[in-house]
Amino acid sequence: MSKVKYYYDPDTLSYRKIEPKKSRRFRNIALFFLGSFLFGFLGLILLLNTNLVNTPRELSLAREVKNYELQFELLGKKMEQIENVLANIEDRDNNIYRLYFEANPIPEEQRRAGFGGVNRYKSLEGFNNSDMIISTTKRLDIIQKQMVIQSKSLDEITKLAEEKEKLLAAIPAIQPIKNEDLTRMASGYGWRSDPFTKARKMHWGMDFTSPKGTPIYASGDGTVTRADNNASGYGKHIRIDHGYGYMSLYGHLSQYNVKARQKVKRGDLIGFVGNTGRSEAPHLHYEVWKDDERINPINFYYGSLTAEEFENMLKYATQENQSLD
Ligand SMILES: [Zn+2]
Repeated sequence: MSKVKYYYDPDTLSYRKIEPKKSRRFRNIALFFLGSFLFGFLGLILLLNTNLVNTPRELSLAREVKNYELQFELLGKKMEQIENVLANIEDRDNNIYRLYFEANPIPEEQRRAGFGGVNRYKSLEGFNNSDMIISTTKRLDIIQKQMVIQSKSLDEITKLAEEKEKLLAAIPAIQPIKNEDLTRMASGYGWRSDPFTKARKMHWGMDFTSPKGTPIYASGDGTVTRADNNASGYGKHIRIDHGYGYMSLYGHLSQYNVKARQKVKRGDLIGFVGNTGRSEAPHLHYEVWKDDERINPINFYYGSLTAEEFENMLKYATQENQSLD
């Protein structure tokens, strides 16, 4: 309510009320409302900017963001579990599988390498939660890469395992004569005295004393390359090529059960013990070759001997006696 103002009227010698002009009164009222409105509006803007007051929509958005943050945290924990399991698989891959199949381990840096070059996370920058989103995306990218590398490694191992299976089937791994058919293991690989000259001479194979006609078995999968009497000293003999650089030779036979170029499996009957060639008594002279060198056959019986039998054989084979050649 505006103040009532008076003025002194000398004509009537009294105070008279000043009547405000109508237009002025209207202006005052308008100014009052405008002022109140501006003041209120400014106040509202200030309040909104200082986050002291939130609208219901803002409150619901804030709740949603909180929920996302929580979900990200849970995802982070799950990723950590995945990373742990993956690390365990990688460890076994490097230290057991790859080692067993003689493949080089995959270095840690190669397995965990991120993505270099252009900034692939640029589109994720500039938001309140950019750090969280970028770090999560980076972790997922690395996990994805690890999985690809691991999967490829397992493919490689599968191939190596198949090869190894073939190799294991191929290399000589059993005795060429049944253990119960042996009268004795006469002489092993090494320096022995020659049965004919009595001179000390390298004996390149192992001699198994057995009666004439005792069956002889292929010691590994392969192809018969020779079954003839044309090699000096060996008499009637058989050679089997096992692949991977391995060859086995069976000498002084009485009879063949295979022909050249015939494919054989480990354990197939290939011939019979005899006394042909440079031989003092019926026996099988057995040799194992690797890359054109004769090696000690004693290391190739793991498929057919018990530990005890092997030990006995080792005792016999290492005695420096006379070979039967
Ligand atoms: Zn011999």
